[in-house]
Amino acid sequence: MNKGKILVVEDEKKIARVLSLELEYEGYEVTVKDTGMKGLQALEKESFDLVLLDVMLPELSGLEVLRRVRKTNLATPIILITARGSVPDKVSGLDLGANDYITKPFEIEELLARIRAQLRFQISKEENDTELSLADLTVNEKTREIQRGDQMIELTPREYDLLVHLLKHQQQVLTRDQLLTAVWGFDYFGDTNVVDVYIRYLRKKIDYPFEQQLIHTVRGVGYVMKG
Ligand code: CA
Repeated sequence: MNKGKILVVEDEKKIARVLSLELEYEGYEVTVKDTGMKGLQALEKESFDLVLLDVMLPELSGLEVLRRVRKTNLATPIILITARGSVPDKVSGLDLGANDYITKPFEIEELLARIRAQLRFQISKEENDTELSLADLTVNEKTREIQRGDQMIELTPREYDLLVHLLKHQQQVLTRDQLLTAVWGFDYFGDTNVVDVYIRYLRKKIDYPFEQQLIHTVRGVGYVMKG
């Protein structure tokens, strides 16, 4: 059972060893690096679910590692391991984009709880990514619920597919052929008018009852969904 990949950047061998044993026992896959530079290189090469980063490292400090990681827009959660009483490290660490910190010496149970909290938060963030939206219209791709303002909207499967495709390409003009291929498939041999027919169905449900129209006709070309 693999609960996630954790990178531990820690130069103190004893702590690194204990951490890696405990984390592996909990079901995590652990990689240990003993300098900031090696830690950065590992992050460039591989993707991790979480990083435990010691602040006091030789050469490149943990804070510098953190700064460089966040500069690359890598959003992997990072928990800093700070020395006792080092308030400035905690503050600058959080300012630099650390997700949490733990102070040495720490109880392994507390660290495990914080790791679980970070990983849970990441999962819920990913779940929210299944939501498409434009203005006050939202589509949840997981539950297939469609909402405009506070009103729930019911669509047929074909209308739903068309709406999702338009939303995923919002601000982009799509031709009838593109829509036909994306929603009806390459093997559809019917009339391309079917696109116009379904756009009309969609508008009746998601646009006409509301003030702001979101599906726009681009004459001679196709359609675009925008606010
Ligand atoms: Ca250290």
